[in-house]
Amino acid sequence: MTEPAYDFDLFVIGGGSGGVRAARIASMAGAKVAVAEEYRMGGTCVIRGCIPKKFMVYASTYGKSIEKSAGYGWSVGEVSYDHAKFMAGMNAEVDRLSAIYDRNLKSAGAEIFNDRAELVGAHTLRLVKSGKTVTAAKILIATGGRPWQPSAQELPGVEHTITSNEVFHMETLPKRMLIVGGGYIAVEFAHVFAGLGVEVTLVYRGDTVLRGFDEDVRVAVHEGLKESGVCVITGTVLERIEKREDGLCANMTNGHAVIADVVLMAVGREANTAGLGLEAAGVKLGQRGEVIVDEWSRTSAANIWAVGDVTDRVNLTPVAIREGHAFADTEFGGKPWCFDHADIPTAVFTQPEVGTVGISESEARKAHGAIDIYKTKFRPMKNMLNGDQTRTFMKLVVRQSDSRVLGVHIVGEDAAEMIQMAGIAVKMGATKDDFDRTCALHPSAAEEIVTMRTKWVPEVA
Ligand code: FAD
Ligand code: NDP
Repeated sequence: MTEPAYDFDLFVIGGGSGGVRAARIASMAGAKVAVAEEYRMGGTCVIRGCIPKKFMVYASTYGKSIEKSAGYGWSVGEVSYDHAKFMAGMNAEVDRLSAIYDRNLKSAGAEIFNDRAELVGAHTLRLVKSGKTVTAAKILIATGGRPWQPSAQELPGVEHTITSNEVFHMETLPKRMLIVGGGYIAVEFAHVFAGLGVEVTLVYRGDTVLRGFDEDVRVAVHEGLKESGVCVITGTVLERIEKREDGLCANMTNGHAVIADVVLMAVGREANTAGLGLEAAGVKLGQRGEVIVDEWSRTSAANIWAVGDVTDRVNLTPVAIREGHAFADTEFGGKPWCFDHADIPTAVFTQPEVGTVGISESEARKAHGAIDIYKTKFRPMKNMLNGDQTRTFMKLVVRQSDSRVLGVHIVGEDAAEMIQMAGIAVKMGATKDDFDRTCALHPSAAEEIVTMRTKWVPEVA
């Protein structure tokens, strides 16, 4: 398969979710494959994203669960939390998973370079540490993204802040934490640290967190943050951070200031393309530095593809994996297919969590005209005895013309687990009638998804 002119059939830059999947599938199809990883095998998801984040979410829920168990007859003695012990367990699991990625790639036959790779031409790469030059017939850019930070001119004192990269290395918990942003990362970590007993303040420039999500979901999450004890400040941004004896003083454009021990900037991510040599290879970038690709993940250079966060399409692990898999099947497995980016289920691991698939009510009204809405808010059975006032919210967005369910939105315990299943129905094009004729499973919170019968009518002022 190898053209003798090149060292490899495929060279993958980046050992994260997308790159590893593509490399493994191409190797298993018989291609001679190499992967370069400059940090740790497994990428953002395994090393400083989904996996350690979800462990932190789990860690942060126990305090409240222990408290609530009293309503079910439990009495627990002195309760304490050892952050160092938790971190040691979490790090060991991350190490284990990273090693599995490494092993799986090697056993599929791929060669691994623990090095940074940069392009010096359309077929030529330079390995920065070793200084070695290698060539490949095809190249896959799977370099992911990194936290975006304003510059020191834009935000004096930004050097005192941390990002989601450093949050996984905090050896001790701060007493006070300021989180900037209102996206996935900001709201997830606000709940994590509040759950671990940290005094959390969240500063968001808009009015309701989670822009882009269904309006009702946004309101539920926004209110949920406050109910969890997070101090939420909206409509302002930081203008200066000063390091003082009593902590970091974050001055906001609204004239107020917050003192915190740690400031976590969660203001978005950017594609990892700086210094990659993409110009030399003829790969075009978009305005935010992302690699521009078509539905086959082809870049503007004939022998170069890009998958995952570096293309800034839908920045989620399963999406990067599917894009990588589709590329490898198409180019090396003789099974061409492209990943369909419609109806991707997603969860935000707030407490309670969000599960959503399909489009929001406002998107549906814009794109499809007449829409029916079904929604319900209820106190789940589990909370009846434990004093927890948290409610579960569910919403169906239905197209009137053919009753097709265009969106399912849930905020509540286990919403992520429920939405994975609802995602199958939405992807299959299920109608509201299909939901109605599905028998409920009792007693569960999920049964409410198939028992909503009354259309929601907006209140007239
Ligand atoms: P990455 O996983 O980022 O991999 C890119 C790799 O390339 C990295 O390992 C990097 O070191 C390496 N690299 C970069 N440049 C070079 C170079 N020149 N040479 C060699 N190596 C290089 N998604 C979910 O679906 N669910 C979640 O719950 C979730 N939680 C998240 C929590 C956080 C805090 C963050 C930051 C992200 C989260 N995500 C989540 C998003 C998810 O992690 C990403 O969408 C996914 O990891 C993207 O995979 P990728 O392969 O595109 O890139
Ligand atoms: P997001 O893009 O989700 O959110 C960024 C937030 O920062 C927004 O609230 C945005 O405000 C705000 N912001 C942007 N620029 C500024 C600025 N200059 N000053 C102040 N605020 C600013 O990014 P995240 O970093 O939270 O997450 C990145 C991506 O990673 C997510 O979009 C998601 O794809 C993925 N991810 C997925 C998770 C999951 O699946 N559970 C968990 C974590 C991350 P505004 O709303 O006004 O634009």
